[in-house]
Amino acid sequence: MQIPVKKNQKIVLTVEDLTYEGMGVAKVNNYPLFIAGALPGEKINAVVVKTRKNFGYARALEYINKSADRVDDSLDQQNGITPLGHLKYEAQLNFKRNQIKQLLNKAHLEALNVNNTLGMENPLHYRNKAQVPVRKINGKLEVGFYRKGSHHFMPLKHFLIQDKRIDEVLQSVLEILNQYQLSAYDEETGKGLIRHLMVRRGYYSHEVMVVIITNGKSFPHGDKIAKEIMKKCPDVKSVIQNVNNRKTNVILGKQDIVLAGNDTIMDELNGLKFKISAHSFYQVNPQQTEKLYQQAIHKAGLTGEETVIDAYCGIGTISLNLAKHAKKVYGVEIVPEAIQDAKQNAKINNLTNVTFEVGNAEEWMEKWSEKGIKPDVIMVDPPRKGLTNSLIHSACEMKPKKIVYVSCNPATLVRDIQLFMEEGYQVTQPIQPVDQFPQTPHVESVTVLENKN
Ligand code: SAH
Repeated sequence: MQIPVKKNQKIVLTVEDLTYEGMGVAKVNNYPLFIAGALPGEKINAVVVKTRKNFGYARALEYINKSADRVDDSLDQQNGITPLGHLKYEAQLNFKRNQIKQLLNKAHLEALNVNNTLGMENPLHYRNKAQVPVRKINGKLEVGFYRKGSHHFMPLKHFLIQDKRIDEVLQSVLEILNQYQLSAYDEETGKGLIRHLMVRRGYYSHEVMVVIITNGKSFPHGDKIAKEIMKKCPDVKSVIQNVNNRKTNVILGKQDIVLAGNDTIMDELNGLKFKISAHSFYQVNPQQTEKLYQQAIHKAGLTGEETVIDAYCGIGTISLNLAKHAKKVYGVEIVPEAIQDAKQNAKINNLTNVTFEVGNAEEWMEKWSEKGIKPDVIMVDPPRKGLTNSLIHSACEMKPKKIVYVSCNPATLVRDIQLFMEEGYQVTQPIQPVDQFPQTPHVESVTVLENKN
């Protein structure tokens, strides 16, 4: 195909669609140009910034007309923190439902229904966790972000979608670190000490954990700094140094050193208490997580008599919710620290009908099967890459009445639904999207599959 535009060319574009990443799409002789921040229906003066063989990127210079779905005082959508912040919240919820719908249509599953997305009343300041890079700007350590696809660091104090108290704690930690002439990590040279700060805050408990990620084990004045943080912020119950000396964009390293306080903080979900450590996966939007889990549990249709498997169980948040309504729950998770937390969480909540195992979900499905365990319901909540063929096969071999699929990626969900259908399972209720990540294009949903035979 002939590329119909050139780099730096100025051009008038009409935006037709939004990609799953929330970028506007306009076409020139069928050649797609992606434009950050532009919305369907908008006509713009743009400049072509990059061309590849099958698609290119353009930047909006001026809006000739604006979409009715555009937020007037738009959050800076290009800052990488709120890539959908320029779209009205109602329209964001529709966008998320439509994404699932479109993927189903492409797979010839247009007969499947998708409910309206369950949204938040106040879709800002919802995140219970921050994970931000630290760099030195004019001699001072700052937290901020990198613009999408760039190496240009932008310092920031108000992160818009994080718990406001987390923003405050980040600034307090920086003030203290700045008294000690510490260096910041440099991605290019791999030198410098402070790489990232991670802060987590319990939505109900208000307990805060601060994790300082350092390039190497030596952290001059680390203990003193930790004590000062706890003194300045009495809600901080845990200060941890995490050592990461690899040249990688993975944020956390393997080694944790507790500098002050505990190695975990507590939080609650749907009235159950949870212990959370630095490495554990814990859903970032607590208000919506309660709704998501209620959906998943309701859809499982438990009466108290069922055996349930929770594959991908993390620290046991869904498992323990299920355990209150089932006879027996088996959970499996690949991160050993998470299972340690899960076991303690079962004890804290006096739930004795749950067994947790460390390992690969696939392998444990087979082991449980060999032990003669017959689940009535299997709950899966996999990472973005979805399920493997062999997991789907072993799950179906166990012949559960229901499979409840919590998905954070509609593309792999639709792919996996097709595989379940090949094994004789059908989607029996409308798919329910739940907005876990307002102002971003991420789509979370709950699907129920049943074997009618
Ligand atoms: N249900 C939990 C966790 C969901 S996130 C919650 O809502 O909090 C997905 C989890 O799957 C992560 O904790 C991740 O560590 C785990 N995981 C990833 N691959 C896995 C595998 N092959 N087997 C078991 N667990 C896995």
